Amino acid sequence: MTRVLQTLGLTTCPTDPSSLTRASEASGASGGIVCQMSMDDRATLEVAKVQARLGLAEGGIPIGAALVADDGAVLGAGHNRRVQLGSPIRHGETDALEAAGRLPARVYRASTMVTTLSPCDMCTGAILLYEIPRVVIGEHRTFLGGEAYLRSRGVEVVVLDDAECIWLMRDFIAANPALWNEDIGE
Ligand SMILES: [Zn+2]
Repeated sequence: MTRVLQTLGLTTCPTDPSSLTRASEASGASGGIVCQMSMDDRATLEVAKVQARLGLAEGGIPIGAALVADDGAVLGAGHNRRVQLGSPIRHGETDALEAAGRLPARVYRASTMVTTLSPCDMCTGAILLYEIPRVVIGEHRTFLGGEAYLRSRGVEVVVLDDAECIWLMRDFIAANPALWNEDIGE
């Protein structure tokens, strides 16, 4: 696992979504394969968690996500930027999709969306729109999104119940209840 994480690395892979976007653009329409990694779900969750921590450090909502190809390549990673960009649509998952850029349908259909938090209705819709067949979720204790609907539409949903994902959100919601309610449309 340590080696895998180093490969992920969180040293060798860019965690800045803008650099991922540039890599994606540079590699053309076949998709920006910027690094290789194990398909181990805990390891891929680390990519999303790095994004969540980055969002928190920016003063944002600590939710991160990554779109991962079937060969383990990170196609794009992103985090919730509601606060940072004043954006109502840049959630972790949609920011990761944006970072991945335009991809052929077959790439989405062979990918996994990894997210630190259960996907909301908007992100559930994006996953279904692009027919992403697999979703890995860090936690769903602080917010339960469209998991049942995803499963009903044939999407494989894996919930890892990750302790850090839980406390990142619990701490944030306790400190910023109004901001959190705004993010989930309440
Ligand atoms: Zn969302």
